[in-house]
Amino acid sequence: MSQNDSSVPEVDRHEEASILLPWYANGTLAPSEHRKVSSHLASCAGCRKALAEFQKVQTLWQHENSAPFDVESGLARLLSTIDQNEHC
Ligand SMILES: [Zn+2]
Repeated sequence: MSQNDSSVPEVDRHEEASILLPWYANGTLAPSEHRKVSSHLASCAGCRKALAEFQKVQTLWQHENSAPFDVESGLARLLSTIDQNEHC
């Protein structure tokens, strides 16, 4: 088990990263948070997958709205997408 430079447990890093992912995808995170998320992404397949979803939604959003991605609307959109997928 390799340890990162801080004593934050991995589960907390995961929690923190998954909360920050929409903003990471959006490119609006503070540099310190951005670094935290990217170092977590390197070791967490789950977060990489979630990030890919956010990026997909973000691309669609920009396509449809010709406006900067709005995290709140994007999240709502993503949740409805997940919902639809589960019904398939
Ligand atoms: Zn994670």
